[in-house]
Amino acid sequence: MSVTAHMTIGGKAVFADETVSVANPARLSTEVGRYPAGTVEHAEMAVEAASAAFPQWRSTPVEERAALLVKAGALIADARPEWVELLTAENGKPLGESVVEIAMGGHAIVTYGSHPEWVGDRVVDDEQGRMVVRRQPLGVCVGIVPWNSPMILSSLKIGPALLAGNTLVIKVPEFGPLTTMQALAEIAALLPPGVLNVVSGLGPEVGRALVTHPKVRKVAFTGSTETGRLIMADAAGHLARLTLELGGNDAAVLLDDVDLSEATIARLVTGTFLDAGQICIDIKRLYVHDSRYDELVDKLRTAVDQLVVGDGARPEVTMGPINNSRQYEKVTKLLAETKEAGADCLQLGTYAEGTDVDNGYFMLPHLVLNPPDDMSIVANEQMSPILPIMKFSSDEEALARANSTEYGLGASVWSADEQRAFAIADRMEAGMTFINGHSLGALHPATPAGGTKQSGCGYEISAEAVDGYIQLQSITTKTYA
Ligand code: NAD
Repeated sequence: MSVTAHMTIGGKAVFADETVSVANPARLSTEVGRYPAGTVEHAEMAVEAASAAFPQWRSTPVEERAALLVKAGALIADARPEWVELLTAENGKPLGESVVEIAMGGHAIVTYGSHPEWVGDRVVDDEQGRMVVRRQPLGVCVGIVPWNSPMILSSLKIGPALLAGNTLVIKVPEFGPLTTMQALAEIAALLPPGVLNVVSGLGPEVGRALVTHPKVRKVAFTGSTETGRLIMADAAGHLARLTLELGGNDAAVLLDDVDLSEATIARLVTGTFLDAGQICIDIKRLYVHDSRYDELVDKLRTAVDQLVVGDGARPEVTMGPINNSRQYEKVTKLLAETKEAGADCLQLGTYAEGTDVDNGYFMLPHLVLNPPDDMSIVANEQMSPILPIMKFSSDEEALARANSTEYGLGASVWSADEQRAFAIADRMEAGMTFINGHSLGALHPATPAGGTKQSGCGYEISAEAVDGYIQLQSITTKTYA
């Protein structure tokens, strides 16, 4: 059955003159649904609706806003089966990963709703008077999300923005936005009209119209570093504040004392191949001490070979297809170039029985053995199920090579000695640095997620994310002669 999604503007379902078809990346001849081809006018309507709703929402007591967020988060936290199936059908990820994405999004919103004190004022009373540091909302905010995890990434903007008293317009991705549009429409219906608006359409058209709108006070963007640069330049026109969660080229560094138990290997496989390598903080490069290289390759090869590739809706499938045509073209070209350059590529895994390989964006997992650091598969963000594994001979060398990128999103250090790993983690140029792990599952609601260098600025997750949606106002009774 094909789904018809709508935009949500000012509490109403809004359609456009034209619609865009969404194909199942595991069965390209099957249409999953259609969504409206939103226009610049829809972007403007959404900003106006958010602007009209702002005065009332900002003066709603924070405890009331928080209680509504708890309800909103609970609405999606139990990952309704029809949404799970829809997300898998439009995105490709296996059903279990869709459950996690939807549930994590719901829990994130509930977490913000459970902490109204994150918006609390600071009061200083002394002999000179009363000084109040108010944590005020900014106004209309815009959230722009990519195709890989649109439910989580929208939720991470909805929670802090609305808790702080802002109103919000979410621009969903061009690829696979249906589940997010349906779920967010239900959340919007719990809130006063215009507090949460959802628009769809092309990035350079609808996204850009939102970013450049003079009434927009903040843009929270998750996507590629290239688009992040354009958004930063556009936001400069009216000095909109920015949170940018951009690309990465995460390195995992395995020291000579790493514990290569089954549990570690399983964590490395999940950390690399979750969502077919298309998570921003999936492991993209692996450095292992040369004394452990053969053992690691041997064990990893056996484990990766167990991956079953196919339609994520089938229970035996552990890795789905590549999400969309643009990404598929990019990664198949990258694989061909890697092979042409003479790299030793191991193709592993198997297709689930009955997989129609020519009717989907499928790619089997690959390990690339000890390529040079300047080869594209190592040097650039790839977002694919291809993992290059390189040898190193000293901790200093590994650190230097892991840091030698303009990205600084995630990284990890793997060692039996936690103290030694901490000392190296401390010098990793990465906003999220994991020890003996490296995955979405290793993120914690109490710790901020964000990139360094060209992986972005600002934070999502945790109390610190709320700071990005707040401006401080000092109100003082201090007098002077
Ligand atoms: P993208 O930059 O092409 O698009 C992201 C979003 O921006 C889409 O909704 C798109 O429509 C919109 N957009 C495009 N051009 C725009 C413009 N000029 N103005 C306003 N909006 C515009 O990214 P993508 O290919 O959809 O996503 C993959 C990228 O996202 C990867 O680089 C990945 O690392 C990154 N990502 C980062 C994080 C993080 O937390 N740092 C999380 C997930 C994905």
